[in-house]
Amino acid sequence: MVDFHIARKKMVNEQLLARGISDPHVIEVMSRTPRHEFVDSGMTNQAYQDHPLNIGLKQTISQPHIVAFMTQALELTGQEKVLEIGTGSGYQTAILSQLTKKVYSIERLTSLSNKARRTFYRLGLLNITLRIGDGTLGWPEESPYDAIIVTAASPHVPEAYLNQLAEGGRLVIPVGSEEVQTLIRIRKKSGRLEQEKLTECRFVKLVGQYGWQEI
Ligand code: SAH
Repeated sequence: MVDFHIARKKMVNEQLLARGISDPHVIEVMSRTPRHEFVDSGMTNQAYQDHPLNIGLKQTISQPHIVAFMTQALELTGQEKVLEIGTGSGYQTAILSQLTKKVYSIERLTSLSNKARRTFYRLGLLNITLRIGDGTLGWPEESPYDAIIVTAASPHVPEAYLNQLAEGGRLVIPVGSEEVQTLIRIRKKSGRLEQEKLTECRFVKLVGQYGWQEI
């Protein structure tokens, strides 16, 4: 039986701090969030390991370092309205919810969304609103967002995210082929879009009207 407290400490030291994650708020929140609550009971002993894990329906919970890296890239101060695409297990959502004011998260698979909802209740995370549906359309009714994070890979940047981004806002999204993608950050500055390449990465597919088509 793994001691989760020790495993989490080791994760933070070896996977985050040692690999350049420097935002103290991200480190603090990942140091206390029980990642093992977001994986199936048979897998809790692997919850803090340095790789993605299956969460069912061919989807994965991202590895800790990429969660930290993407969160840090959003440059949250605590006041933002954040849109997340791909709720999945809800782990990334839970990290965001503790670093900002309000999180809206969309998941296309009903059972994953419902399971994540139950986990948020259990952990007392109350500033999260979930929607089941195609996240490639964004969530226009609640826009604009100060930060948008997409945790599934897209062949290109869906237009809706650019339109729903607030002035000064940041969008972080993996873009590329099915096998490998580049994580990019787009900032809206004085109505203009500035794009930066952050790192190579590998995510499951963003499936929807403006993502990959379902087969
Ligand atoms: N952030 C998640 C990672 C989940 S993997 C976590 O921490 O666990 C990516 C998720 O995106 C999957 O659950 C998948 O079902 C979902 N997804 C894929 N295409 C989507 C779409 N168009 N809209 C919403 N969710 C989508």
